[in-house]
Amino acid sequence: MKNQSPTSAPFEPSINKWHIKQFIFTLTFAVCLVVLALFWFFHHKTSNLLEKQLLEEARAFFQQIVLTRQWIAKHSGVYVKAEPEEKANPYLANIPNIKTEIFDRDDQRYILKNPAIVTKEISVLGQEERIVAFHITSLNLLNQENKPDTFEELALQSFITGNREAHTFEKKGKSIYFRYMAPLTVEKYCLQCHRAQGYKVGDIRGGISVSIPADTIKREIFAGKVFLVLFAALTLGAIIGIILYISRIFIHDLRKAQHSLYTMATRDFLTGLFNRREGLALLSSEVSKSVRKGAPLSAILLDIDHFKIINDDYGHQAGDKVLQFFAKVLKVSLRDYDFGCRYGGEEFLIALPGTTGKEAFAIAVRLRKKIASHKFSLHENLAIPITVSIGVGQYRVGESIDKFINRIDHALYHAKKKGRNTTVGANVST
Ligand code: GH3
Ligand code: MG
Ligand code: MG
Repeated sequence: MKNQSPTSAPFEPSINKWHIKQFIFTLTFAVCLVVLALFWFFHHKTSNLLEKQLLEEARAFFQQIVLTRQWIAKHSGVYVKAEPEEKANPYLANIPNIKTEIFDRDDQRYILKNPAIVTKEISVLGQEERIVAFHITSLNLLNQENKPDTFEELALQSFITGNREAHTFEKKGKSIYFRYMAPLTVEKYCLQCHRAQGYKVGDIRGGISVSIPADTIKREIFAGKVFLVLFAALTLGAIIGIILYISRIFIHDLRKAQHSLYTMATRDFLTGLFNRREGLALLSSEVSKSVRKGAPLSAILLDIDHFKIINDDYGHQAGDKVLQFFAKVLKVSLRDYDFGCRYGGEEFLIALPGTTGKEAFAIAVRLRKKIASHKFSLHENLAIPITVSIGVGQYRVGESIDKFINRIDHALYHAKKKGRNTTVGANVST
């Protein structure tokens, strides 16, 4: 008999796969966005922190060199032992009351170092040690060798408009430098050398740029980025995996629940056969198919004879068992494409697609005989004999389902009238 297994049904609706895919996609997309935003935020925060560290370092260097310069300027320069070839700074020669070189009693020569020269010499040392480089520059130069480069020129221009500092990363050759620049303001003691340029105390007369090798920090930022990308990829992979896994479990449970609901709605609980409503729906669809294909369709109505007596004699539970055994006999007796339903209490409807009335009648007779000879054993010592009365009929094109069943029911009524355990064909429309 067709589709009578409790696990399958012909018109069982299934959950909408497209909706589930849409749900999973949207959820995954939202989670990806949140995770990526989080990782981007962390990367940004770490990079900013490292950059801030460099900025603080550069500011400290700047303040250190400015303090050094102030100390030298306050003392109108410092005399240092000169190397034999070393010349005094020619720019200092024009400043009144200043000796650019002096000799001690032993004729040792000393030359005057001003803040600019000291800055330059500390810068050379700093570069040799790969710690820091200073460059003192101005838009109004005394010494053309101190010309500002592009970063410095832009920074100096921005100081005129009120900026107090500028910084950037710059690549030189294979190395990356963090460049910082802040303005140099004119102090009282600067005027002894720079008065001729027309400066007043408080004027910005240039700036000092500080360059710090930033390869290590850049490498750290890059390594952090790689780590975060890998970590984000792994996290995303894990989250997507979890979403898919949970979705699968969820879909599986949903399908199971849906199947249970469908079974409950379409099956008879006691026998496992289709219930009356589903049986009629299936019959109606078979009628449409038969009309479309021009194929015959027949149906059988069976009613167990004197079933009330079985209940009365053996009890209602025994009656239930008999109904279950009876349904099993029906299931195994019919063809794959036939189907049956529990039409009423002890009444069953069987549809026989592709079968003429004559063929259906023969099937019904065989079935009646089989049931009459079957032993419905409740236990070892108790086998209840059963007979059925049957009405059989072939569908007539244009006939309503109700009319078709009424005809067969009428035949069944005649079978009962004839004394039961009989098959009657419904050839006349009622
Ligand atoms: P007939 O030969 O005229 O069909 O006689 P009958 O006794 O089979 O018919 P009747 O309509 O008088 O009684 C049907 C009985 O079937 C009465 C009802 O209690 C019983 N029945 C209906 N559904 C169930 C059920 O699910 N379980 C049990 N045990 N009995 C049922
Ligand atoms: Mg009966
Ligand atoms: Mg009945």
